[in-house]
Amino acid sequence: GVAGGALAADTWRVATEGTFPPFEFYDSNTGELQGFEVDLVKEMAKVMGKDLKLESMSFDAIIPALISGTVDAGAAGFSITPERAKRLRFTVPFYRSGLTIVVPKANKAGIQDFDDLKGKHISVQIGSTSMAYAKKIEGAKVTTFASAGDAILNMLAGNADAVINDKPVTDYIRSRNSSIAENTIHLEPIATADQFAMVTTKANAKLSDEMSAALKTLKANGKFEELHQKWFGR
Ligand code: GLN
Repeated sequence: GVAGGALAADTWRVATEGTFPPFEFYDSNTGELQGFEVDLVKEMAKVMGKDLKLESMSFDAIIPALISGTVDAGAAGFSITPERAKRLRFTVPFYRSGLTIVVPKANKAGIQDFDDLKGKHISVQIGSTSMAYAKKIEGAKVTTFASAGDAILNMLAGNADAVINDKPVTDYIRSRNSSIAENTIHLEPIATADQFAMVTTKANAKLSDEMSAALKTLKANGKFEELHQKWFGR
C-alpha cells in the first residue's frame, strides 16, 4: 500500500472523454464509463501489470493534460495526424476511421459531398480532426461543441447545414437514437481514412512502447477481436 493517497509507481493514468460512442461513453442507465477503447485500456493494464486510473475530461483538455504531466496517456479516439505527431507519440493504431458528413433530412443546402460544404454552416466537436477539416473549407462558418452529439442536436435545431464527424461514431449515435436517425441523412463520401491510436508525450516513449506491445498481445491472444465483436458486432 501507498501512504497518504499518493499514486503507486505502477499507476497508469489514462485520460479519456465520455462522449465518443462506441469508443468511450457513459451508459445512460448505469452512468458507467464504457466502450471499445475503455475495454481495451482495461485489458492493456492487465497485460502491462499496471493499476489503471481512468479519468474522463473534455476532448480538448486531454493534450494539455498530457503535456503538463497530470496524465500519462490519452485514449479518446485520437486520430493520428502529422500535426499531433510533432508533439506527441502515438501507439500502434487500433481502429481505421474516416470523416463523414451528416445533414438534416430536409437537406435544404443540398449537400452531397465535401465540395458542397463551401460557405456553409458546419457544426463540429471542439479540438477534433473534424474541426480542423471544417476550418479549412473555403467560406465555411464553423461552430464548435463539447461533443459530436451536441453538434448534431444544434444542426437539428436549425442552426447548421451539416456536421462533420468520425464515421463509426455517427453510425453508433444514429443506431442508438431513432429520433436522430429519422431526422438526418448520413452521407457516404469519406474525407480521410485515418487511424485511431492512443497517445503519450514523446518523453514517455517507453510507456508508449509498452502500450503498443500490450495492444499487440491482445491482438495475438484473441481478446482484441472479442472486444471488437462486442462493440461492432463483426
Ligand atoms: N478522431 C477525432 C480526433 O482525433 C475525434 C476524437 C474525439 O472526439 N474523441 O480529433
